[in-house]
Amino acid sequence: MVTDLVCKMEIDEKAAGYSLIYEGEKYFFCSEGCLEEFKRRPLDYLRPDDPRAE
Ligand SMILES: [Zn+2]
Repeated sequence: MVTDLVCKMEIDEKAAGYSLIYEGEKYFFCSEGCLEEFKRRPLDYLRPDDPRAE
């Protein structure tokens, strides 16, 4: 299982219909909405404490 970084839902990576390679890592999402949200502001989800992530 992997965690959808946007909505924090646990999803089965084998069944996840939405995925994205970002900086060499593969991320999985439960829906197109979560995928699009991640693409819009990836640093907010990857490094929420990073002050550079605006
Ligand atoms: Zn989601």
